[in-house]
Amino acid sequence: MDACNTYYYATRDPLGASGDFTTAPEISQMFGELVGAALADCWVRAGSPADAIYAELGPGRGTLAADALRVLRRAGFAAGVHLVETSPALRSAQAARVPDAIWHDSIAELPQVPLLLVANEFLDALPVRQFAGGVERRVTVAAGGLAFDRDGDIVETSPARDEAVAALATHIGGHGGAALMVDYGHAKSAPGDTLQAVRGHKFAPVLADPGDQDLTAHVDFEAVAKSATAAGAEVTPLVKQGAWLERLGIAARATVLARTHPDRAEEVARAQHRLCDPEQMGALFKVVAIHAPDWPPPAGLAR
Ligand code: SAH
Repeated sequence: MDACNTYYYATRDPLGASGDFTTAPEISQMFGELVGAALADCWVRAGSPADAIYAELGPGRGTLAADALRVLRRAGFAAGVHLVETSPALRSAQAARVPDAIWHDSIAELPQVPLLLVANEFLDALPVRQFAGGVERRVTVAAGGLAFDRDGDIVETSPARDEAVAALATHIGGHGGAALMVDYGHAKSAPGDTLQAVRGHKFAPVLADPGDQDLTAHVDFEAVAKSATAAGAEVTPLVKQGAWLERLGIAARATVLARTHPDRAEEVARAQHRLCDPEQMGALFKVVAIHAPDWPPPAGLAR
């Protein structure tokens, strides 16, 4: 999964209608604007520390960063933009939208200052391990392609994800800041095979075309919370994306956008529905924040 995704992201921009999948920030500017508003509000309530930076993990095309930064800049946030991205193809897409950004290969490389961080559909792309009957399941070469070496009831873990969350939480616990993590997944750890492949906006067999389809697994948010807490950060309750965007005022933003761009009113309404409706992205996608003990929890996520 690690090797396939490294190749996959390094060799293409997979987002949008002509790609394999689409994400919340690509659906509407409202998503990034509300992320920016939540981070701006958190920063102001933390006392507007001048050394805090905007940071993002796996920023895709840079659309979310550009939309969030528009709002943050208006709130007086003037500091730098740091993007953690390994794909050269996506780094150049990001440079077109956020020309003043500084790129890093890992969370460990971020400057040792408070973070205003967001990661949308980043954790789901990190590799998982699967166990059947307590034995790790492996991929073998079989007649006609790749195959799993064993079947049975699957338990998934993601050491890579646990490590990324621990690195982020250690940073935030030590230097301050808040991180919004948005992804599809479940609130409680549970057995089950959630590995999936998507190509051309359709599910595909997971072992087909290695490196040429998007491989993800659902995020175990209980494991995320455990890892973050153990590393010394605070973790908010998990909130469904739809409820969170509504608490942050997506309806009001949609009304203003529709009024100022009447030709786009229908598109704005469709986007709001897609982001918030429980049958669309509203319930499967969830939001949690990791924050420093002396920073407030971001709006819409407080206990
Ligand atoms: N956040 C964007 C893109 C999500 S796709 C959006 O919402 O549209 C996943 C992103 O994570 C891509 O930018 C991909 O290149 C990046 N990525 C995947 N694995 C990574 C890793 N190990 N380190 C850094 N970035 C990674």
